Amino acid sequence: MFPPGTTVRSPAAMLSLNTATLRPQWSLAECIDGCERHGLGGISPWRDKLQELGVAEAARRIADAGLAVTGLCRGGLFTAADAAGRAAAIDDNRRAIDEAAAIRAACLVLVCGGLAPGSRDLTGARQQVADGIAAILPHARAAGVPLAIEPLHPVYCADRCCINTLDQALDLCDPLGEGVGVAVDVYHVWWDPAVRPAIARAGTTGRLLAFHVCDWLVPTRDPLLDRGMMGDGVIDILGFRRAVEAAGFQGPNEVEIFSELNWWKRDPDEVLQVAVERNAACLG
Ligand code: ZN
Repeated sequence: MFPPGTTVRSPAAMLSLNTATLRPQWSLAECIDGCERHGLGGISPWRDKLQELGVAEAARRIADAGLAVTGLCRGGLFTAADAAGRAAAIDDNRRAIDEAAAIRAACLVLVCGGLAPGSRDLTGARQQVADGIAAILPHARAAGVPLAIEPLHPVYCADRCCINTLDQALDLCDPLGEGVGVAVDVYHVWWDPAVRPAIARAGTTGRLLAFHVCDWLVPTRDPLLDRGMMGDGVIDILGFRRAVEAAGFQGPNEVEIFSELNWWKRDPDEVLQVAVERNAACLG
C-alpha cells in the first residue's frame, strides 16, 4: 500500500506519444488506439496526420480515448525571403492555432525557421522569428493556446530553427508577456552548459510548457533521422526530468523519436511497449 496522499504515476500514464515516433507506420487514428491500448496518458499529433483524419474527428477520438494533448506539432517557420512569404507563414500559424484549440492542445510547438534561402543574415532571421511570434500571439491568446518555442540543436540553425538555446528562447518570451513559453526537448538542449539554470528560469517565469524525450546516440548517423530510444544514448534524461519537475512542470514525458534506421522499421506496438518500459527510468 502507498501512504495516503501518494501520487502513483505509472510510466505509461506519464508518457505522451509524439506521433512522429510512428510516422511511417501509423495514422493518427491508429496512434490514438495504440495509446489507449498501451495505457499512455497523452498524445501530440503532427498537423499532417491531424488534417488527414480531420480535426473534429481527431478531437472526438482523442477525448474518447481519455488522452491529454501535450502539444500540436508544429507551427513556426517564420523566416522567408520576402514579406509575402512571411505573411503566408503567419496565416498558416493562425490556422495551426485554431487546430490546436480544437483538439485542446496544451500548446502549439513552434519550430521557428532557419535562414531564408540564399540569406546569410542570421540576425535578421532571428528578428523575423521575434516579429512572427509577436504577430500571432494575439490570436493564440484569444484562442487560449500557449505558444511553445522549441529551441533546436545548433546543427539545425541554417535550415530549421535559428533559436538554439533555452535562454535564447526565453529571451524571446520575456518582452512578449503571457501566452508564450518553451518546449524543452532533451535531444536539442542536453549539450548546453547553461541549460539547467535556464530550466529553472523557465519555471520561475511560468514558461515551461512541454518536455520531449528521446536519446542522443553515439555515433549519431543522421542528425535528423537517427534519434535514439530513451536509455540507448548519452542524455541524462532522469536528471532533466528532475530539473523540469523542480521547475514546476507536471506533465508527461513526450516521446519524440525520428528514427529512419531503427524504430520506424519496427512493429509499432513493440515501439510503444519499449517506450513505456524505458520511460519508467526517466521519471523523477
Ligand atoms: Zn521536440
